[in-house]
Amino acid sequence: MLWNEKLTGLNGYENRVAMKNTDVLVIGAGVMGASAAYHAARAGAHVRLIEQFRIGHSRGSSHGASRIIRLAYAQPEYVALAKSAYALWRDLERESGATLYFKTGGFDFGAPDAHGLAEIGHNYREQNIEHEMLDAAEIMRRFPQFRLPSDTVGFYQPDYGMLHADRCVATLAAQARAHGAEICEEEPVLKIVAHADSVEVHTTKTVHHAARVVLCAGSWMRPLLQQLGIHLPLVVQKEQVQYMPATNPSEFEIGRFPLFIHRFAGTTSLAAGFPVLGHACPKFLIDHIGARVEPEDDDRAVDVAMRERTRDYALEHVRGLTGEVVEAVSCRYTMTPDEDFLIDRHPLYPHLIMASPCSGHGFKFGSVVGEVLAELALRGATRHDIARFRLDRPGLRDV
Ligand SMILES: Cc1cc2nc3c(=O)[nH]c(=O)nc-3n(C[C@H](O)[C@H](O)[C@H](O)COP(=O)(O)OP(=O)(O)OC[C@H]3O[C@@H](n4cnc5c(N)ncnc54)[C@H](O)[C@@H]3O)c2cc1C
Repeated sequence: MLWNEKLTGLNGYENRVAMKNTDVLVIGAGVMGASAAYHAARAGAHVRLIEQFRIGHSRGSSHGASRIIRLAYAQPEYVALAKSAYALWRDLERESGATLYFKTGGFDFGAPDAHGLAEIGHNYREQNIEHEMLDAAEIMRRFPQFRLPSDTVGFYQPDYGMLHADRCVATLAAQARAHGAEICEEEPVLKIVAHADSVEVHTTKTVHHAARVVLCAGSWMRPLLQQLGIHLPLVVQKEQVQYMPATNPSEFEIGRFPLFIHRFAGTTSLAAGFPVLGHACPKFLIDHIGARVEPEDDDRAVDVAMRERTRDYALEHVRGLTGEVVEAVSCRYTMTPDEDFLIDRHPLYPHLIMASPCSGHGFKFGSVVGEVLAELALRGATRHDIARFRLDRPGLRDV
């Protein structure tokens, strides 16, 4: 069977495209690329996923044991997308048999004027999302692990949870393979050449020809996009998470300690704490305080100032920690100026799709972004609302 014969029923878009060496070539096997490959292969396309390192490596943004998944967003578009993301992660769990989502319940809290807090409460109410609004005393009565300023207000939402990040990426890649995708590891893409109806992808090993390409290169996006005539002010930031032991570890297990996001006035930088998953102790981070790095900069060294600042924050706001930091892990954010994602088709080559869903909050959406990308590649359109993420929006001007 020819590859394009398998694709009948996708609105005829594919029939206008001469099939090449592969139908859909996905560049980058972080959570977004692995998910795009999975969804495209599941739809019947011939898919090739190309990764410069090994699947599950720790030099990008998708590694580690835990990422927050939540409905708590200030913008309704993200709430809608998060609802689809929850459903698709559950579908993947059913299909694969893997446990990926751990329901913990969780808080967004801060002073009443904290960035985004009022809007989160508004969206919960508008969309009838189960939640409770609690003051500092009530939060600390229910969860004595917290030590919060008296003016703190918080929204508790029971569906808050953690995705086991490493397991999500491995499962997406395995299921992509099960649906027939080829996965090429340790094969860096060097050059992308777009033609009117196809794309050439030059790697260290060969030249691939594809009818459609999905580019999900994480913090390596900016230089690859530049090759395609797109100059974006994407900034790569070093981030770091800290694991801190507790005097009584059982107080920080799932069910005893909730996830939390502490929001502050006048900044999108936030502090977060996670119950125990995949490590012996809870995890803490303060984001947006790391140095800017270049995409090719492979510095993974632990930043001592970030470690100390996060440790001090945790000791001030959480009771029952020993004060040690037993492990710190480096990671990267790829930031857009407005902190919204980029998900769009190339303006001149619509068979080339670009996705930079990071800015520090993309992982949870990996399941639905993969579906979006597969739909854009195979049908030229998606059922999800991605207008907010378009390339030509004012918040993402060329530099
Ligand atoms: C510390 C930290 C905490 C976070 N917490 C959360 C959270 O709680 N909840 C949440 O939703 N999100 C969170 N995020 C954000 C989330 O992890 C990212 O949005 C997401 O992982 C981005 O995935 P990606 O696939 O776009 O990028 P990546 O995971 O970086 O994947 C890109 C892949 O492309 C490959 N690649 C790049 N260039 C090439 C090339 N030339 N050839 C071949 N392959 C190439 C890379 O090797 C890499 O594997 C967090 C991020 C960090 C760093």
